[in-house]
Formats: sequence, structure tokens, C-alpha cells
Amino acid sequence: MAEKHKKNDKLDILNECTISTEVDAIMTSFLHHMKYTLGKDEYTATKRDCYKCISYVARDHLIDKWLNTQQTYYEKDAKRVYYLSLEFLIGRSLGNTLVNLDIEEPVAEALAKTGYDLEEIKKYEWDPGLGNGGLGRLAACFLDSLASLEIPSYGYGIRYEYGIFFQRIRNGYQLETPDNWLRYGNPWEIERPEYLYIVKFYGNVKQYTNGAGTLRHEWVNTQDVVAVAYDTPIPGYKNNTVLNMRLWSAKSSREFELGYFQHGDYESAVADKVQTETISKVLYPNDNIFEGKELRLKQEYFFVSATLQDIIRRYKKNHPERADFNNFSDKVAIQLNDTHPAIAIAELMRILVDEECFGWEKAWDITTATFCYTNHTIMPEALERWTVSLLERVLPRHLEIIYEINSRFLKMVGERFNGDVNKLRNMSLVEEGDEKRIRMANLAIVGSHSVNGVSALHTEILKDSLFSDFNALWPKKFNNKTNGITQRRWLRLCNPALSALISESIGEKWVRDLTELKKLIPLAEDSAFLEKWREVKWSNKLSLAKCFEDHNRVNVNVDSLFDCQFKRIHEYKRQLLNIIHVVTLYNRLKENPAMDMVPRSVIFAGKAAPGYFMAKLIIKLINSVAQKVNFDPDIKDKLRVIFVENYSVSIAETLLPAADLSEQISTAGTEASGTGNMKFALNGALTIGTLDGANIEIQKEVGKNNFFAFGLTDKQAESLKNSGYNPRAYYDNNPVLKQALDMIDSGYFSPENHDLFKPIVDSLLNQGDRFLLLADFASYEKTQQQVSEVYKNQALWSKRSVLNVANTGFFSSDRTIMEYVKDIWDAKAVHIKI
Ligand SMILES: *Cc1c(COP(=O)(O)O)cnc(C)c1O
Repeated sequence: MAEKHKKNDKLDILNECTISTEVDAIMTSFLHHMKYTLGKDEYTATKRDCYKCISYVARDHLIDKWLNTQQTYYEKDAKRVYYLSLEFLIGRSLGNTLVNLDIEEPVAEALAKTGYDLEEIKKYEWDPGLGNGGLGRLAACFLDSLASLEIPSYGYGIRYEYGIFFQRIRNGYQLETPDNWLRYGNPWEIERPEYLYIVKFYGNVKQYTNGAGTLRHEWVNTQDVVAVAYDTPIPGYKNNTVLNMRLWSAKSSREFELGYFQHGDYESAVADKVQTETISKVLYPNDNIFEGKELRLKQEYFFVSATLQDIIRRYKKNHPERADFNNFSDKVAIQLNDTHPAIAIAELMRILVDEECFGWEKAWDITTATFCYTNHTIMPEALERWTVSLLERVLPRHLEIIYEINSRFLKMVGERFNGDVNKLRNMSLVEEGDEKRIRMANLAIVGSHSVNGVSALHTEILKDSLFSDFNALWPKKFNNKTNGITQRRWLRLCNPALSALISESIGEKWVRDLTELKKLIPLAEDSAFLEKWREVKWSNKLSLAKCFEDHNRVNVNVDSLFDCQFKRIHEYKRQLLNIIHVVTLYNRLKENPAMDMVPRSVIFAGKAAPGYFMAKLIIKLINSVAQKVNFDPDIKDKLRVIFVENYSVSIAETLLPAADLSEQISTAGTEASGTGNMKFALNGALTIGTLDGANIEIQKEVGKNNFFAFGLTDKQAESLKNSGYNPRAYYDNNPVLKQALDMIDSGYFSPENHDLFKPIVDSLLNQGDRFLLLADFASYEKTQQQVSEVYKNQALWSKRSVLNVANTGFFSSDRTIMEYVKDIWDAKAVHIKI
């Protein structure tokens, strides 16, 4: 029976209970929360309490719009978009909320009146680290754009109790500590104990024939877990839309059963409860790597099951008849952020066939019309391939459904391609081998009506290589949606000085429509403007240099070129190429300390997965090189190496405004898109980059002259590997490169252990140099020299910087989202009135 949307007339007065943006009202509300929500007085209130209270004030301002938004969607029966993601790396909320609600000024004033500084108070917000890197941050940028564009939509994910680990550097090594982000409470979330769903695991499938002679399946003897909803409001930019990000937390179901704790065995009852609740305990810290752990599979299904139950509950409020399911996809679009939630395809089939009693074909039509899949990587080690034995144990009915999908699909493939065995083997959802596995990407392609890549190059590779057989079968399914970033966070909020200069020159429409930045183009010829532009960058660099002095105890030359690589540490991203280049610069300076060289501060930031040996050794190498370089008197202030701990959204926000040079140097064909590249360009850094991912599109937008491209193309890289790549030849023929590698190999940077970095050099010279570092080195070094030449001419550099910013409008996630809306979701904006 469908739930009724009943109104309580006596509560109509709630509509008169609203909130004022006057300074005095904000101050009163702040003090009220201090006293009555936190129970603090003038003796006990801390700055963290102040952060919390001002967040409650901001949240109060969100609530009317939030309730109104949800009510309007219900009344209009709007088509909803559901963005399913295992990660949402949203970053801090306070600053973003104040900007989007346009109450930054009165709030700052109200705080000032009580003796607090808003900028200082903002730093007390703990960065929710519910993601690893680009994929999670993309989901967060999308939510901001969806809200700003008034698209009826929801983010769904997991409320991990522990987010991505905290990274400390000790003695040059990465040390991981748990991120207990909820320790001091989270003022942004609202628990919804009324939205509880049971999620089943394990058990077995019971088959029977019903009275009408139909074969039916029932999933029985399951272990049940309860999913509890936690909601976080997502405000649009200066509109009345406030969307909902709903994250699920796992609770023991037995706790809800009378008597569970009353049968004498209290201890094992508690153990059982703890075991269940581990499902939402911790985020897996892997980026672009598939591990295959049972708990991870349970996380994926846990959040998918709760989410689909919630979506269907909401759908049934407006469409209570069973026959209404025929129009399900007119009202529901579900976007899968990578294959992590792809089990949803089997789950919707299970619900429609087993519970709603639809025939297979009907259920399949509804399912494929509902789902859309975004692929994020072509690297084989990142593709999810669950073993059949694990799926059989944890989700027995889903495995049966996957087999049924596969058998019908392969029958169709066989007919279409005349039984072509290669095609059947490549396209099958089941990978044969010692251990049978289910290919989740294949399931996602077969079960969706749209498959998109995240940059032009990446989509071409999907269509021409990885999924070429699927593309031959369904060419219209494949499409590109080049990633984007939200300018609200990645310029307006993180770089107030540059934002102010831009707004005073061309107005502030760019915050809503980033293509407005094109109006900066003529100013690239205006020397007075360029002067101001340089001053802004310089003052941003000065602030960062002060941080380095305080936190890293390194003095940095503010006039040096700030050369930056911030991203997860990964061999394919080639931080190693960068640090080897640093070693060559160091050697040149040592040979000739009087050399006239453009001073550089090479800055790294990024986490390595705790189980990724090579990535962690690269971090140690960077820090070891830093030790040598930074304290060598011959080097003076010409070269510095800095590794910034614990890269996160809030650290990114403090680093990006100071960047001169953006290092985007992955092996061509490996980085699906990148979004860090876009953030740098938007903050006026020039890029040194390979022709990979969205770098290619950035180069196209900003112009070849304003972008330092180097290295092999993806096709050249591919054919070099296929024609017998010999990394040693590059080493033998390049004395500068040889010297640097020999130093690393022989322990020059690790006097305490001469063998420490041998595995790194070994991977290049003896293990095949999978990411073609040595093949690209000469080109990289030459291009870095060009970078230095241009930097010497500050007028030219800042002109190019302005042109980079001016032509970055395409990379707004607003543009990306509008493309999804039009090409994939067929959704419509719904304007929310006050
Ligand atoms: C943008 C962002 C990333 C992604 O960076 P790439 O250079 O695209 O890999 C990762 N982590 C954080 C915290 C980010 O803000």
C-alpha cells in the first residue's frame, strides 16, 4: 500500500515560522544556538563551538528552501535524477553555504560583533573525506551544479564513519591515521530515523511454482542489516533550490527485534551488532584499483538496496498502481558513478521480477530505460570483476539474475555476429579462467541505455578499444560528457582575491555562467590589468610561502616559479617523472652554482593507497630529494621541493590560488579526464601536460600557444609498447637522465639505506617501465626549459595566465550537467519559488 502524503492543517503556522537575514537576527540566532543547542556560556564556549553555532544558523537558513524544494518536486511530480556514488568528496560546507545563500556579509558582521573572525572560524570545520580523489570530487561538483541549475535530483551514498585516512609524513614516509570526522558531531546532517530499510545478505534462493503455474524465486534465510538515512542539504547558487544528499549508515537489525538482548547471551549479541555495523565503518582508500574484498561488495549492495527502496517508495507516493511501473523511467533516471553501484541493475530486476511480479522482458525494458553508466577508467587493474564464488555466497539471487541477463544477451550477440566466438568471449558478463568472475562494466553497459566517458579522448578509447564490440552493437549508447568543476568552490570561494579582480573587471555573472570569463580576453593586452593580476598571484604565493615556513620549516622564494603536482600518488600519474626532473635540475645547479636559473619551488601533494608499495616509495623519494635539495647551501633560493601533507579538498583550496605551473603529466591514454587540471587553469596556472584526458580539450580551449604540451600521444604510446619498448636505450643515450637514475639507485638520496630506492629504478630499467617515463623524459625536460624561458618574461607569463582563465569557461560542471540533462536524463529544471 502506498504511503499517503498527508497534511497536518494545525501545522500550517509552520509557514509563518521563517528566518531573517538581518545582522541582529543572525546574532540572536547564533547566541540562541550557543546557549540552548550546545549548552555553552561565556566561560565555556570555544572557537569550535562558534563554528558549530554559525553552521546551525546557516543550516536554519537552508531548511525552508530545502522543505520547499522537496514539496515542490512532489507536487509537480517532477522527473528525478538519482546520482549514485560510493564517494562524495564535498569538502567544507560553511563557506559554500554562505556564498550560495548570499549571506556571507551579514554572518561575518554578526560574528564580528561577538568578537569572532569568520575566516578563522571556517577553519574549525572538519573536511568530510568521504572520497578518494577525482571520482568523489566530481560527484560533489555535480551536486553543486545540479542545485544551481534547479534540476530535481538527489545524491545517494554511504555515510562512512571513517573517511579517507589522514596522511602524515614521518621521516619522509607516509603514515596513515584514521579520520574520525564525526568525533565533534556534524552540524550539516540531519538523521532520519524514520527512513529505515532492511538490506539482506547471504541466504539462499527458494524456487516454487505458484498457483498460476509460474516459476517464482524467493531469497530466504538471509542476514539482515538496517539502513538509516542521514541527509545533508545542498544549496544552489543564489536560488531557492536546496537538494538532498542522502547517505546511509548501517545498523544492526536485531537491535529492533524484541528480545535480542534478553536471551542471556549479551556478549555475542553485542559482537553481532558490531559486525553488522562495520558495513558503513570505513571508506576503502583505493583510487583506480580493484581489491575484491567481501566487505566492499557488501558496502556496494547495502547502499544500492537502500537507495532503490527509497526511490521506489518515493515513486509510489505519486504512482500507487502497479501498472504505473510502465512509466517508471519517465520519472526516474539513475546515473551510476562508475561500476561501484552497478549491482543496482540486478537489484531493480530482482524487485520487478520477484517482488512486483513482472515478466522478465517488461522488467528489463524498465531497467534499461532507467539506468545510465559513467565509465571512469580503462586501466585493467581498476575494473571491478567480482568472483562468482563471492557473489554466490553474498548475493545468491543476484548471481542468478546476472546469469539470466547474460544468457539472453549472449543469445542476441550470437545472432547478431554469427556466433563469433571472440565477440562472445569479450562481451560476456562472465570472465572464464581459473576463477570465474563477473565483469561489472559489461553488466553496466548491457543494463543501461547510456554509457559515457569523461573526456573526448577517453570516450574515443572506450569506443575504439576497451568496449569496441559493444560500440559495434549499440553505437548510439556511447557518448561523451567531458568532466567539469564548480567555479563556486574552485574560484569564487577558494580564491577571493582573484575573484574580486575578475568581478570588478567584468562583473560577477561568471559565478553563474563561466563562459562570461571570455570577457577577460581583451584585458590580456592591458598592462595595468596584468600588473594587478600579477599582484594577486604574488600575494596568494606569499600567503602560501608563510604556511610553508610555519608548517614545513622551509623558506620559499616567493618570486620562484611555483611548480605544482597535486593528485593521488599513482605510477600512471608519473610523480616520478617530475621528481627525476628535479634531480636533473639539482645536478645542473651543483655543477654550476652560479648558473642563472629561473628559481623553482616544486610542490607535491597527494595520498598513496596504504597497500600500494611503489606509490609510497615514491613519496619517500620525493621527501628524500627534498631533504638534500632544501638544505644544500649551493642551491641558495633557486630550488625547493615541498611535500604538503594530507591532500584534501580544503588543502587544495589553499594551494591552488598560489600555483604558477600545473603538472598534468600522466602517460597519454591513462588519465580518463582529470579535474585537477581544470582547477589549476581556472586559478591562473599554466599547464605542462601530456595529450591525455581533458588536457587535450584544455589545450584546444586556451590555445596551443598558452599550453606546454609534451610527450607521446596515446597512439604513439600504444604502438611503442607494441613494438618492443626498450627503456634501457633511453637511459644509455641520455647522460643527464642516466646520472639522475644512478644517483637514486645507488643511495645518494638514502644514505641510511643505499638499496631503498632500487625497486623504483628497477621498475623503470628492468620491469619494462609500464608508463613510458623514460620515453617521455627528454620531451618533458625540453618543455620545462621552455616553461622557464616564458616565466622569465613576466608580462608574457601573466598574459598567458589571463588567457587560460578567460578560456576555461567550458570546464564548468554546469556545462557538463546540462549535457547530461539534455542528452541522457531528459530531465527539466523546476524553479522553486520562495
Ligand atoms: C580535484 C581533486 C582531485 C582530482 O585531481 P586529479 O588531478 O584530476 O587527479 C583529487 N583530490 C582532490 C582533493 C581534489 O580536489
